[in-house]
Amino acid sequence: MDPNKQTVLEELKQLLSEDRVSTNESVLDQHSRDESYHEPVMPDAVVFPLSAQDVSGIMKTAGKYGIPIIPFGLGTSLEGHVIPYSGGISIDFSLMDKILEVKPEDFLVRVQPGVTRSKLNQELKKYGLFFSVDPGADATLGGMAATNASGTTSVKYGVMRDQVRDLEVVLADGSIIHTGNLAVKSSSGYNLNGLFVGSEGTLGCFTELTLQVYGIPESIVGARASFGTIGQAVNAVVGVLQAGIQIARIELIDAQSMRHVNGYSGTDYKEAPTLFMEFHGNEAGLRQDMEFAEEILEDHGCEEFKFERDSTARNQLWDARHDLAYAVMRGNPGKKMMVTDVCLPISQLAAGIDSAQQGMKEFGFEGGIVGHVGDGNYHALLMIDTDNPEEMERAEKFNEKIVEFALSRGGSCTGEHGVGIGKMKYQKKEHGDSLNVMLAVKKALDPEGRLNPGKLLQTDSI
Ligand SMILES: Cc1cc2nc3c(=O)[nH]c(=O)nc-3n(C[C@H](O)[C@H](O)[C@H](O)COP(=O)(O)OP(=O)(O)OC[C@H]3O[C@@H](n4cnc5c(N)ncnc54)[C@H](O)[C@@H]3O)c2cc1C
Repeated sequence: MDPNKQTVLEELKQLLSEDRVSTNESVLDQHSRDESYHEPVMPDAVVFPLSAQDVSGIMKTAGKYGIPIIPFGLGTSLEGHVIPYSGGISIDFSLMDKILEVKPEDFLVRVQPGVTRSKLNQELKKYGLFFSVDPGADATLGGMAATNASGTTSVKYGVMRDQVRDLEVVLADGSIIHTGNLAVKSSSGYNLNGLFVGSEGTLGCFTELTLQVYGIPESIVGARASFGTIGQAVNAVVGVLQAGIQIARIELIDAQSMRHVNGYSGTDYKEAPTLFMEFHGNEAGLRQDMEFAEEILEDHGCEEFKFERDSTARNQLWDARHDLAYAVMRGNPGKKMMVTDVCLPISQLAAGIDSAQQGMKEFGFEGGIVGHVGDGNYHALLMIDTDNPEEMERAEKFNEKIVEFALSRGGSCTGEHGVGIGKMKYQKKEHGDSLNVMLAVKKALDPEGRLNPGKLLQTDSI
C-alpha cells in the first residue's frame, strides 16, 4: 500500500473509527489465508464496516489511492479466494451480521452479509422456516453468494444463485446498487443477481442479501445405504435420479472417508462406500418414495440399508457428513487440504469417479472421495505436504487430470468452491471466447482491476 500507507490509514480511521481499522499482526495473519493449501500473503490493513455507507467510503478512499480491496467473510473458501496477493485492504464483514427482516408470508429473509448459515437457521426455526444451502463450513451468506456455494440439499432446493432475490452491492466507485427485487420472477433486463452471485468479490461488495427460504417439511426421514464398490453406489444414485424420485439429499462417502467419519464423530457406521440420504415431504408421499428408492438401491447391489427416522440419529448423520473435511484434516496434522471439485452431467458421473480413482493410484495418493453426487459434483480430498515440491506437483497434475476429464465430458472445473486463484488456469478452456464477455464486464465495473485482483479472471489481458 506504500507510499501513502499512513495517510490512507488515517483517512480510514476517520471514516470508520480507530478500533475498526487494524494493522495488528495477528489480525493481518488471520486475513492472509483461507482453509486450503494456497500460500498465505498478508493484507496491508483490515477494516470492519458496519453499513453500506461505510463500505462505500472505504471503496472511495481505496479508489483515490489505487489500493486493492479484498472482501472477507469467514475465510473458509478453498481456492485462495481471499488471499491478498497484491496487498491492499481486506474488508471483514463480521460486524455486519444482522438478520434485518423475516417475511414468512413471502418466504423471504433480508440479511447483512456477515450472517452465517447456522445463525440464520436458528432464527428461521421460530417461524417454521429454513434456509437450504449448507456448505460443509459454517460460512457467511455474503461469502456463500460470492462463491455460488451449494451443499447437500442442492439436489432438491438448488444452489445459492437460486436463492438470491436481491443484493445490495457497493461498486468499485463507491456507488450502491440493488440487483433484483422481491418478486418470484421477472423478465426485466439483464439478470444482475445471476451476474453478481459467483463473482468472488471481483465486481463489488455485497452489503445486504434478500434470500428465499422454505417451510420445514412435514416429514423428514434420513437413510444410509452401503455398497460393495463405489461404482455400485454411484450407479444407484443415477438410478434414483433417473426414476424421478424427489430426494432432498444424496451424498456419497467412500470407505476411507467413512473411517474418518467414525474416528472423528464417534459413530460406528459400516466402513464401505455409503450413500447418506434424506427424503422431505408428507407421510404418504415419503413412504412411496422411500420404498421405491430402496428397491432401486437393492437392484444396484446395496448391502445394508438403514432408515434414520428419529431426529437425533438423523442430525448425527448430517453432522458427521458436514464434519468430514475437518475429520480428514485432524487425521493429517502438518498437511494442507487440496480438494478437487468438478461437476459432471449425471450420466458421466460414474466414469468421472472411476477415472479419479485410477488417477489416485497413478499419482500415488490415498485421498478419499466424497460428493454431492445428486448434482454430479464430487470431491477427491487430498492432504498434502506443501513444503514438498514434488508432492505439490503430483497433486496439481492429479487435479488437472480430474478437471480435464470433466471438461471433456461437458462438465465444469468447479461445481461449488469457485475459481479463486486455483482454477483460473482452466477458465479459457472451459469458457472459450465467452471469457472475453466476462472480461468486458469486469472492465466496465472495475476498470482499474482493484477488486480482489488476481482472482477468477486474468485481468492483465484487459
Ligand atoms: C470443511 C469445508 C467444507 C466446505 N464445504 C463446502 C461445500 O459443501 N459447498 C461449498 O460450496 N463450499 C464448501 N466449502 C467452501 C467454503 O465454505 C465456501 O466457498 C463458502 O461460500 C465461503 O464462505 P466464507 O464466508 O468463508 O467466504 P470467504 O472465504 O471469506 O470468501 C469467499 C469469497 O467471497 C468473497 N466475499 C466474501 N464476502 C463478500 C461480500 N460481502 N461481498 C462480496 N464478496 C464477498 C471473497 O472475496 C471471496 O472471493 C467448504 C470449506 C471447508 C473449509
